[in-house]
Order: sequence, then structure tokens, then C-alpha cells
Amino acid sequence: MAKATHWLEPHPHGLYVRPADLWIDPSRPVARAAVTHGHADHARSGHEAVFATPETLAIMALRYGIDAAASHNAAMSYGNGFERGGVRFSFHPAGHVLGSAQILMEHAGERIVVTGDYKRRADPTCTPFEVVPCDIFITEATFGLPVFRHPPTAEEIAKLLAAVRAEPDRAVLVGAYALGKAQRVIAELRRAGWDAPIFIHGALERMCALYAEHGVDLGELRLVSDADKAEMAGQIVLAPPSALNDRWSRRLPDPVTAMASGWMRVRQRARQRMVELPLVLSDHADWDELTATIAEVNPQESWITHGSEDGLLRWCELHQRKARALHLVGRDLEEEA
Ligand SMILES: [Zn+2]
Ligand SMILES: [Zn+2]
Repeated sequence: MAKATHWLEPHPHGLYVRPADLWIDPSRPVARAAVTHGHADHARSGHEAVFATPETLAIMALRYGIDAAASHNAAMSYGNGFERGGVRFSFHPAGHVLGSAQILMEHAGERIVVTGDYKRRADPTCTPFEVVPCDIFITEATFGLPVFRHPPTAEEIAKLLAAVRAEPDRAVLVGAYALGKAQRVIAELRRAGWDAPIFIHGALERMCALYAEHGVDLGELRLVSDADKAEMAGQIVLAPPSALNDRWSRRLPDPVTAMASGWMRVRQRARQRMVELPLVLSDHADWDELTATIAEVNPQESWITHGSEDGLLRWCELHQRKARALHLVGRDLEEEA
């Protein structure tokens, strides 16, 4: 058994780094938290001190009103870190959303990486995942089952554009999580040559502006609330998933309902949400990315959390890789995937 178990303790509400008296992504308020990224199941409000990338601190400032510049919080850009209680912490890109980081801890001759959420495929809105060599690799497993294989991004974007062109009298309404997915869909549409204004629900406005302030070009965005029904015909509209079947959508011209999520692989989920056009677009590693990443990092041990732990655990066993499942609570996978 690795010595790590003496200094890094998995608790249901987060990972506790005992010598540093610090929690990683705790699901309840603590004195000191290192936060991998801004999604609500990782970044909670109420911590006394937060260590995170500057982008994650900006996102937490936007969502929770924390003072990102306050002296008790510390911004760690990629490759940088700090030392506390004999543990060296550093932050490395995870490729999940703007500012998302893996956290490397070095202590007592051991290197442990906590991935937070991650993906391996290209994303124009964030820095790509970096392989960080380590002894213990603590990986997410949202899509830790072989059934989850995400198609190429360009194929899904092409499907969306084909739907818009096929229905010049209707709007195409895309449900996309407010942090990360919405901006990625917009940036991918721009990359595919869609240069018309994109209409957005008010709930996406501030996060899109934050991305733009951090250098992610989203082109011209217009608020649905400022638009006429007629001008949205033949156009793309983005809204949080919760708005898809809401009264709000009645202000759009006969919308085609789409949703961008890794869960759209599961037909029943698409049907539940009455989604006509499921787009399998995920900010999480799919099965092939998860297994390839474990093989590439090649740790002595993998700790698996945040999703289908058992599927990935089984794969590790079949491939003679030492692994264990951590059972952390409070994960909300549906919305951000
Ligand atoms: Zn996330
Ligand atoms: Zn997550």
C-alpha cells in the first residue's frame, strides 16, 4: 500500500491533504481549499481561502461574489504552485473548461495528481490537457463505461449547421451548460465558419463575457430578450438545459430543440428532455480517452472517482493496473457533462 494513504485522505466530501491542512474540491465550506475548476460540484462557496487558477478564481467571483483578489485567495497560473506543510502543490491544464487544472502534489518522495474533470480532444476555449507523470493518478470517470465513445466534434457541429440550413423558418435552440459547454459550442460554430450573430439566453451572458475577457473569441452574441421573434428564424439560439422546455422558449420561432451533452449518447435521456437533435458533445474524457490517459500517465496506482468508478476499475484490473474506487459525494454530473 502506498504511503500516500498516510498523507492524502479520501473523505466523502473531498480529498484532505493532512500535512497541509487543505482540501481539494471539498463539497462543503473549509478553511483552505484548492479548486480544480469552476463547476459547482468542484467549486463551492464559503471557503476561507481558495487556491486556484486566475480563471477559476474569476469564475468563482462571478458565481459566488468571492473577492478573487483578496489576500487569503491565491491565483496559480499553469505550471506554478505553492508549498504548505511540506507539500508542494502545482496546477497543470486539464482541457475541461476555461481555467481547469489538474493539481500535482509532491510530498515524501511521492507524486500524486488529481485530475478534477478533464478531456483529451481539442477545445478552442481552453488550454489542452497535459500529461503529468505521477505515482498516483486520481482520475474522474464520468463516462467510465465502454458504451461511451464520443463522435468527432466536427461531425456534431456539422449536424447542427445542417439542421439550421434545413429549417430557414425555425430557430435551432441548443441546450448547453452555462460554464464551458455553451462557449465551446459557440467557438466551434465560429471555427466551422458560422459568422451570423448567435442568440443567447440571459443566463449565459456573463459567463460568455468572462470568456471573451480571457481572450476566447465568441463573435457577435445577441440576447434573445433584445431580439424580435422573426429575426431568429434560421438562426442558432443557446440556452441552459433547464430552459429548453420552459415557457421561455415560446418567444422563439417554432424552435428545433437540440442539446449538447455527452449524455445524448443515451437515447432515453434525449427523449426525456424532448430533444429532437441530440448532439454528443462532452467536456469529459470518453472511455477511450480515460483508458488511453491511464496508459499514458502509467502511474503505480489509479484512484477512480466521479462517475462510473466500477467500469474503469474493472478495466484496470483486466490490464493488471493497481486501482481503487473513491466514493466521493455531492457530484452533479447531469448538467455539466
Ligand atoms: Zn467539471
Ligand atoms: Zn465534475
